[in-house]
Amino acid sequence: MKTSTTNLISTATHCPYCGLQCAMKITRDDRAAVPARSATVEGRQFPTNRGGLCQKGWTSAELLRNPDRILTPLLRRGSRFESVSWEAALDYIAAGFQDAQRVNGADAVGMFGGGGLTNEKAYMLGKFTRVALGTSNIDYNGRWCMSSAAAAGIRSFGVDRGLPFPVTDLTGAKAILIFGGNVAETMPPFVGHLSAAANAGGLIVVDPRRTATAMRAEEGGGLHLQVQPGTDMALALGMAHIAITEGHIDRTYVDTRTKGYDEYWPEVAQWDPSRTERVTGVPVAQIRRAVEILAHAKRDEVGSFILTARGAEQHANGTDTVSAIIGLALLLGLPGNRGSGYGCITGQGNGQGGREHGQKADQLPGYRKINDPAARAHVAEVWGVDPDSLPGVGKSAYELLDSLGQPGGVKALMVHGSNIALSAPNAGHIVDRLRSLDMLVVCDFVMSETAAMADVVLPVLQWAEEEGTLTSLEGRVLRRRRAVAAPEGPRSELEVWQELAVRLNQPAHRFPTEPQVVFDELRRASKGGIADYSGVTYQRLDDGEAVHWPCPDTGEGNTPHPGTPRLFLDAFATSDGRAAFVSIAYGGQTEPLDNEFPLLAITGRVLAHYQSGAQTRRIRELSDAAGEMFVQAHPDTAERCGLRNGDLAQLVSRRGTTQARVHCDETMRLDTVFIPFHYPDAERANLITNPALDPTSRMPEFKVSAVRLENAT
Ligand code: SF4
Repeated sequence: MKTSTTNLISTATHCPYCGLQCAMKITRDDRAAVPARSATVEGRQFPTNRGGLCQKGWTSAELLRNPDRILTPLLRRGSRFESVSWEAALDYIAAGFQDAQRVNGADAVGMFGGGGLTNEKAYMLGKFTRVALGTSNIDYNGRWCMSSAAAAGIRSFGVDRGLPFPVTDLTGAKAILIFGGNVAETMPPFVGHLSAAANAGGLIVVDPRRTATAMRAEEGGGLHLQVQPGTDMALALGMAHIAITEGHIDRTYVDTRTKGYDEYWPEVAQWDPSRTERVTGVPVAQIRRAVEILAHAKRDEVGSFILTARGAEQHANGTDTVSAIIGLALLLGLPGNRGSGYGCITGQGNGQGGREHGQKADQLPGYRKINDPAARAHVAEVWGVDPDSLPGVGKSAYELLDSLGQPGGVKALMVHGSNIALSAPNAGHIVDRLRSLDMLVVCDFVMSETAAMADVVLPVLQWAEEEGTLTSLEGRVLRRRRAVAAPEGPRSELEVWQELAVRLNQPAHRFPTEPQVVFDELRRASKGGIADYSGVTYQRLDDGEAVHWPCPDTGEGNTPHPGTPRLFLDAFATSDGRAAFVSIAYGGQTEPLDNEFPLLAITGRVLAHYQSGAQTRRIRELSDAAGEMFVQAHPDTAERCGLRNGDLAQLVSRRGTTQARVHCDETMRLDTVFIPFHYPDAERANLITNPALDPTSRMPEFKVSAVRLENAT
């Protein structure tokens, strides 16, 4: 997958950022003094992006020449860092782990992973943690991204795969409902797949804000349902009520492919249109029209889809909210058919693969449950260890961080691919917890806000310097390729874990460092699991095959399994093959408003930045485009709070205060303000967010916080 013209070497790979995993070509000039610094990026034809890239993608080569790159291990000496050798840093970390465990037991060490790690690293991180460290305390930032949709998907379908169909199935569809997603800013090339629906007046966007995606819907004659924050579940139940009572359900589908309708209906029955409008703020006429658009498109077989994203999922009732939305999709007969479906839009670059290979507290590779004896036996055999030596279920991400430095909690923490000082909910509290650790180790390639707090920082490779695989939001396994040489100094995390494992008295061969060798082991570990990669090989991917899991190794030589682009066409992955309606009750918003906190603050993203902004804030074009935090508010709301456009405001919740300039926008709801979460210091959005957890997925209530807005000057 390399081509060359004289000294120009081009490598086919994918974007370092989001789950759309747009295909790109990186070209370097080998005549340059440092070829990596000459790298340029251009879009490449691929089904997900059709040659396009967004602003983040086309500026991504800047990461390869960023002057902030960390080149040597750093050890804290008081308030400063000192460069040390790899040997010294690794010895220090291994001794820190051993000290913590000697005094406080195995679970005193914690591991925090990330949804941007390659499949190979996600897999090896889980193995290293459970085998070399023997701790149950491993979780990752995907817990805060996908876990509610994952839990709801498993509950209804028996499998969680973001889109259980190729993204190109959306391309010609005439009706698409997006619950809580602003793809026009988070993954712009995705919008191309919505064009047919948008142009047909069939794009429907549920969002408290009039986002760029909502505007696209309205421009084409579609709908923006400007829901009150935190009431998505009520809206889904109200839409289901209309679908049932006004004759839009696919009765044959419900009778033959689903179960649980009789238990589901009594709760839905309470959501008559007027109650739904009262609770959600969405006019009945719009709700009814949305249901009609979806139902008619399904009936006429012109493509009808429902998608969810973080706006619906990042709530303390996120799992039930997604279940309510899946219930609507089942009534209309969408999942498991060609030309219609339900799916969730994965956010992080390897948000899909990252949740399949064992870096989650309750999971082993292949999307297996860690407390399942058969799963433990299978994985232990691949790892060459005793199943009884494997730890059990650990703490979820927020609970793990909340335990830091506490009696019975984690005393030494290692972080990979996450910037938790910004991205954790109730971030001020989590920063205090990080400060109370005996040892904090951060692997990163730039000095993120979390790395700046560490006792040891290990410099690692970044995307275009490494080989590996990722899995896109549609379950398609992709090759990430080394396009440039890494500078001298940084190492792969795979090497870091092997070195640490040896210091922890493990054999080196148990922790291979060559990505393809790790992938081949991952294939064996995943065999027979939900996310079965056993039939996927580097060779097949390098030959250009698009392989979606599950792809079992059939052992039939010349006829490898083709992979599974579309799930559920014949049956759902439940014990009886039927998709389950889940009976759920809407219990209101998580945090009540009162005179002290009379507004609802919602958080989200802007076009120029990715996640905590640790990478994108370092790119001049992106920081020029969106250099500081803002609070978006209706002018009347701002005026009520004594503020005008451009004033410096502070947003105060029950947990903390953040600062931002006011951006007045007449399309905002009067009861709602919006803040993006990419910024550091006093502009950290997560200083105010609510760590209340979903009882099933352990997803925090990121999206809605009760706040007051006041003048900061
Ligand atoms: Fe594509 Fe996402 Fe990268 Fe933008 S950030 S180029 S949408 S993969």
